[in-house]
Amino acid sequence: MLAYRHAFHAGNHADVLKHLVLVQVLQYMNQKPRPYTLIDTHAGAGAYSLGSAEARKKGEAELGIHRVLAHKARHKPPEAVERYLELLQAFNPGGGLGRYPGSPEIARMLLREDDPLMLYELHPTDVESLARHQIDRRLTRVHRADGFAAPRAHLPPPSRRAVLVMDPSYETRGDYPKVLAAVRETLQRFPETVILVWYPQVQRVEAAELPRRLKSAIEALGKAGAGGKPLGWLHARLTVQAPDAQGFGLAGSGVFLVNPPWTLHEALKTSLPWLAAALAQTDTPSYVLDHRAV
Ligand code: SAM
Repeated sequence: MLAYRHAFHAGNHADVLKHLVLVQVLQYMNQKPRPYTLIDTHAGAGAYSLGSAEARKKGEAELGIHRVLAHKARHKPPEAVERYLELLQAFNPGGGLGRYPGSPEIARMLLREDDPLMLYELHPTDVESLARHQIDRRLTRVHRADGFAAPRAHLPPPSRRAVLVMDPSYETRGDYPKVLAAVRETLQRFPETVILVWYPQVQRVEAAELPRRLKSAIEALGKAGAGGKPLGWLHARLTVQAPDAQGFGLAGSGVFLVNPPWTLHEALKTSLPWLAAALAQTDTPSYVLDHRAV
């Protein structure tokens, strides 16, 4: 089932959280000269027009990135928010925010020439758009294949540095156990991988349970000596909306990282409350920030 199209959601509150964190991770990785491989298991179409019929259908960017920009006019953003907004500006050199970059375009702006980028996408239209956007980048490979199988194909990487971004559409319940299995496989193959998993805050027990299951899996792998040392993790969740009367809707979303940059916890300590205020669609926005440093 491939009904999900990210074009309807680009620039929403979930993209804001996920992409801000992605920018932090890649800027941190860039502090060392040795190349790293970035694997994006669910890449989407690459870039999105915020003026398209799809984007305007529910106006999700209006409640997402546009609120962030409006909040910025009144409240100075924390450093990490500034870094993310600078990238959006660079993506729209003519000014304004007509185009929104998906994770592959954010990667393209931040990766160095020698950092391989492995993109996985199954939707036939989106994979074509993705390939078009990346055509001029020497070390990008676009795979029309199951992203959950990507760790097996690329880990360990030749340079012994890797980032794995896993952002499924969670259209079916089956995606939750697949995320867990792919995280385990990634760490068994290459325990140093920096992993970023995004998940939705929806009324589904699998979604509520995912962070706890990830923590237990990582702690068990650490004890079993994945690479001979315990693994650090970070969990951040931002809740900005109340579920609708039927209990549906995306109340918020979360990111779970393994081997996060040590700087990320501090960055999110200031960014999450700022984002909660910027993106609130309820009187009681909230956030969770939890981590285990090693
Ligand atoms: N990561 C993108 C970003 O931040 O711009 C958005 C990705 S979107 C949430 C999820 C994408 O995964 C959709 O484009 C969908 O077609 C694709 N997809 C669904 N199942 C997949 C699978 N098993 N392997 C690869 N891609 C898949």
